[in-house]
Amino acid sequence: MPTAIEIFKYLPKKNCGKCNFPTCLAFAMQLANSKAKLADCPFVTDEAKAKLEASSAPPIRLVSIGAGDAKIEIGDETELYRHDKKFFHQTRYAIVISDNADEKEAAAKLKRAADLRFERVGQMLAMDMLGVRNDSGDKAKFAAMVARVAGESALPLVLMSDDAEAIRAAASAAKLSRPLIYAASESNWQTMASAAKELKFPLAVKHSELNGLADLVEKIRASGVEDIVLDLCPSGLQQLVERNTIVRKNAVKKTFRGLGYPIVTNACGSGQAVLMALVSTMKYGGIVLLDDLDPAHAIPLFVLRQNIYTDPQVPIQVKAGLYPINNPGEDSPVLFTTNFSLTYFTVAADIEKSRVPAWLLVVDTEGLSVMTAFSAGKMTAESVAEALRSSGALEKSRREMVIIPGMLSRMSGKLQELAGVKVVVGPRESSGIAKMLRSL
Ligand code: SF4
Repeated sequence: MPTAIEIFKYLPKKNCGKCNFPTCLAFAMQLANSKAKLADCPFVTDEAKAKLEASSAPPIRLVSIGAGDAKIEIGDETELYRHDKKFFHQTRYAIVISDNADEKEAAAKLKRAADLRFERVGQMLAMDMLGVRNDSGDKAKFAAMVARVAGESALPLVLMSDDAEAIRAAASAAKLSRPLIYAASESNWQTMASAAKELKFPLAVKHSELNGLADLVEKIRASGVEDIVLDLCPSGLQQLVERNTIVRKNAVKKTFRGLGYPIVTNACGSGQAVLMALVSTMKYGGIVLLDDLDPAHAIPLFVLRQNIYTDPQVPIQVKAGLYPINNPGEDSPVLFTTNFSLTYFTVAADIEKSRVPAWLLVVDTEGLSVMTAFSAGKMTAESVAEALRSSGALEKSRREMVIIPGMLSRMSGKLQELAGVKVVVGPRESSGIAKMLRSL
């Protein structure tokens, strides 16, 4: 990304404000921070546009696979370390089905891919893609399996074959929504690139050496294929870390466009497939191809991914409001907590466990936890009293009582005064809520 001064050189310098910024320099500064779009200035010349767009293209190309709701995007990353800003497009996992698979195996893998879904802190964690591998060497058999998988699942596909004719046969056998072709190599790149260009599908490119890969990518780009995904062919975990890091560093720090593409890791057939998936998730992987994924391995893998791809500057939040738990009624008590997801889900689970019907009021604290929000003045007796009023909590519950987190005992007097109801100080830890509710 060029600096603000470099961008400024290409702007019209009219200082007219039509871009919603008072001066061209102010607009250039916003552009440099990716907070404005070049198109917002109506006076940029085509020449300046071409220069700025080329130099402001993301260091790692954004590649989309699939279509509609199931579409996934990989790449378009700008950072080496998550804490510098954030990572944007999470690692995607694909279960691969061989075209030699019998009915039972194919059905089991399709079911597995559909069933691997877990909800955590309000977000759905799920399997992202399916692959079909041409092990038979038979175009018709490959096309039939691709058609079956595409017919039974909406997940984006990876078409795995070294034979461009098999890819074409699969594309004509089923209506495919922009699958990833895997993969072009030194020996087949002309035919694969030509198929990718004709079908308008993204293309994975593999090579066992990084220099060779950069050369191959250059040839494929020159042939007219833009949406490329790199397979760095690591021989093991150490090489996976090394190669993924080298590629990311060169793309982000040196803007080396020759390897500025997302990475696919083929862990099929590896005895360390789950470890490869974990390392790829931590180290810049775009897609991981797996023969299968046990739910016991999927949970930690998905949770790791969720943690890495959560914006470190924006806590995961739930919507503020009044939540009924265990079918509460007029006699049920009201408790309150913050809208920080981890706190909300912990408190909600503990109330659920108690089996006591209750109303849980979630107060907007901008995603901060109880003590942090209290210390930062984001959760005060005034804001809680206002939330009690605006949510209608005190009309839904006629107990004229509110249970507050034990750590907020200091606000009890003032809250009682403002809300006009009895304030009961709850336990300091959420784990004590069940016992307290049962004793009410
Ligand atoms: Fe400058 Fe263009 Fe913004 Fe006008 S619209 S202030 S010319 S950048």
